[in-house]
Amino acid sequence: MSSHDADTPTSARRTPANRLGLDYRAVPARRVGGRIVDVHTHVHNTPSTPAFFEAADRYHIGKIVSMTPLDQVDLLRTSYPGRLDFIAIPRWREMKNSAEFGRQWLGDLEAFREKGARRMKFWVAPPLRGEHGLTLQAPFFQPLIRQGLDLGYDFMVHVGDPSEWFERGGRYADAARYGTKREQYPQLEHLLETVAPRTVIAAHMGGSVEDLPFLQTLLDRYPNLHLDTSATKWVVRGVARQPEAARDFVLRNQDRLLFGSDLVVAASYDFDHYASRYWVHQMLWESDRRGESPIEDADADDPPRLAGLALPPEVLRKLYDENATRLGY
Ligand SMILES: [Zn+2]
Repeated sequence: MSSHDADTPTSARRTPANRLGLDYRAVPARRVGGRIVDVHTHVHNTPSTPAFFEAADRYHIGKIVSMTPLDQVDLLRTSYPGRLDFIAIPRWREMKNSAEFGRQWLGDLEAFREKGARRMKFWVAPPLRGEHGLTLQAPFFQPLIRQGLDLGYDFMVHVGDPSEWFERGGRYADAARYGTKREQYPQLEHLLETVAPRTVIAAHMGGSVEDLPFLQTLLDRYPNLHLDTSATKWVVRGVARQPEAARDFVLRNQDRLLFGSDLVVAASYDFDHYASRYWVHQMLWESDRRGESPIEDADADDPPRLAGLALPPEVLRKLYDENATRLGY
């Protein structure tokens, strides 16, 4: 926290989520009406859960699709009736022995399905390969994919991570251990081929907002592939470095993109943290803003930039609602 906080009593406290001292309760006018579906969140039952829902309410986020631990699903659904839809996730914290973990995951897929989950998530970021030697092509995952198909699930997948992290000095610089960025993708193609025509949402702009021509080749080859816009800092800096190309990409793929935030609800976060992501996404998709992003980002240029794409209203409706409706939300 910087020392000038005390000098700015009329604006909000400056935090990593609010480096410009904005009032996130002063929500800019939406360019389109109707509901907004956030297809990628991690809602947990914590003391700050009401602050998350306050932010969602203020920013018109009507439906929230969440990766919530199985044992919190009933409580959250009762507390926030009609607001939540759930994505089946495993108990990563209990991943000691992969055989036992796999058996538990198979059972949890049934339990989530009984609770109404329609999509299951695979998190296969580079650490899964680096620390457990696993990709979605490993034998470990095949019974889980099969169980998902048998139970009627569609899929979500986190593949890749920001390109900066693969560079020299980055956390995945050891390519022999983590694979290169491009080597993350055969496992996505394996999933897309195995589950077609079931849909796959590849989270965080398919993990490759930095390389839109590559994403385009995947979208063109796999009609069941969809992308969500989640991971605010990553997507905002990726768009800010190539706003014209990003706008062309969104317009071209307007039926394949879904709005998502990747907000994680945790006790340590407050209203400003939650609202900052929705504020930034609103500016990113709806406005023609060219300026700084209010969210600190260690991987961004200094200062972090935000370039709004000013999407047409009919494209915003697809991004916010219609594409998610078509996928069952
Ligand atoms: Zn996430």
